[in-house]
Amino acid sequence: MTSSTGVLVLGGGPGGYAAAFAAADLGLDVTLVDDAPNPGGVCLYRGCIPSKTLLHVAALLRDAEAAAAHGVAFGRPTIDLDALRRHKDAVVARLTGGLGQLCRQRKVRFVQGRGRFLGPHLLAVDAASGGEEIAFENAIVATGSEPRTLDELAAQGDLVWDSTAALELREVPGRLLVVGGGYIGVELASVYLALGSEVTIVEVTQGLLPGVDPELVRPLLQSLKGRARLMFGTSVTALERTGDGLMVTLTAAQGGAESLAVDRVLSSVGRRPRTEGIGLEALGLAPDAQGFLPVDRERRTALGHVFAIGDVAGQPMLAHKASHEGRVAAEVIAGRPAAFDPAAIPAVVFSDPEIAWAGLMEQDAAERGVDVRIGRFPWAASGRALTLGRSDGLTKIVAERASGRILGVGLTGPGAGELIAEGVLAIELGAVAEDVARTIHPHPTLSETVMEASEGVFGHAAHYYGR
Ligand code: FAD
Ligand code: NAD
Repeated sequence: MTSSTGVLVLGGGPGGYAAAFAAADLGLDVTLVDDAPNPGGVCLYRGCIPSKTLLHVAALLRDAEAAAAHGVAFGRPTIDLDALRRHKDAVVARLTGGLGQLCRQRKVRFVQGRGRFLGPHLLAVDAASGGEEIAFENAIVATGSEPRTLDELAAQGDLVWDSTAALELREVPGRLLVVGGGYIGVELASVYLALGSEVTIVEVTQGLLPGVDPELVRPLLQSLKGRARLMFGTSVTALERTGDGLMVTLTAAQGGAESLAVDRVLSSVGRRPRTEGIGLEALGLAPDAQGFLPVDRERRTALGHVFAIGDVAGQPMLAHKASHEGRVAAEVIAGRPAAFDPAAIPAVVFSDPEIAWAGLMEQDAAERGVDVRIGRFPWAASGRALTLGRSDGLTKIVAERASGRILGVGLTGPGAGELIAEGVLAIELGAVAEDVARTIHPHPTLSETVMEASEGVFGHAAHYYGR
């Protein structure tokens, strides 16, 4: 069977489906190809959504435990793993089913199967879906990314998990080794700690979440210390199966090795863009040295009518960046003036406490020689934080010294991922610290910490007399 379409979108994740929906809303004829039964991609099926569903339960367990200090004791929780798995799967099914419905409402043709380009205007979808060939005018490559694997961990099959396996929630291992202390390592370690695993995190660099402002990471380190074992400057150098478990050799960069018996290993050492097996050679395109498809501001590849968006098109590998690029590509195809040119892309680690940031951070400013002033507001001075029993947070504003313009915002504490949106808006709109400081924020809320940190850029916040 052969069909034709105006816009072919390969990959139905947050990049691909956002592009397909935007293109359809702009009046274009759209076909969306993905190997799952509905759109959703990694984010909905095996990423953001299942992990945040489980992290919410982890936060509930932690809050219930912490309530004992405030005079409310719930006793030891019982966890029905099957019910929890069903709940997570139901959230995923509801959201992905909803996206399928949105496709139908918008008249986006959804084709399930694996797609491969046969030429600059032709894609084949694998035989499982009937072996269709689709001729297209424009294409958007949104094939996402997949877990990077370490040779040292490859051999032990089901005992070594990637994030997909960990999110399946098959069991709660007694002893879990997490290799890699980035986003996934921190988030999934938090889930399994809350469910009762004994967790060790090994990270090859000297700390958790390398690249993130260490001042924002510190409260997370404090929260994990005593609950998990953290080993920095260390990596796994050997792995041996011992019946139902594993014996792991951990080697420190500074010398010295240790053997550790664990039940399962979670490998979370990064993701790589998915460009293999999609027929890039038939398009005459090749990935760059990091494996990403090079694109311009309009998200066009070297072929003017083929676009690339999302994880396959460069860092940061975040769902909201993918969706934004998807809308840009759709608008460009529809002939509208559009470009991917954000002033800031927010990032959130959904740990406990959460860590969120956007724009220029203190160390970036120092490295780039930008003259900045920092406004800090420790949450120990926030009435709302104290009512929540959470004085461990911090809000930081990075502002250009000469103009007061807000260049970066960083937060750590519960709800940081919600609060960062105000910071992103401030950066996008070119606000100065005084704009935010003089905007009336509701009391008592954690959002006041953004206002007070902005006050702190050039003076003192009402509730905090900083240096
Ligand atoms: P993807 O979501 O990867 O979707 C690509 C789709 O294309 C997939 O369905 C894939 O199967 C399909 N595909 C690939 N090749 C073909 C082919 N040849 N034929 C047919 N279909 C194909 N980001 C956040 O912003 N917030 C979070 O909280 C967050 N949490 C995460 C948690 C985990 C555990 C993981 C793994 C990732 C998380 N991410 C998060 C990252 C986020 O999932 C990605 O940035 C996002 O999914 C990228 O979207 P995308 O559209 O580029 O591709
Ligand atoms: P990551 O790049 O965030 O972290 C990987 C970590 O593994 C790094 O800290 C790295 O130093 C470490 N590492 C690499 N090799 C190692 C080794 N041999 N031994 C020990 N440590 C090693 O990658 P990730 O955690 O796998 O997540 C992949 C991407 O998915 C993220 O970069 C992010 O873009 C996205 N993601 C986002 C969220 C979110 O937005 N909340 C959540 C999960 C994933």
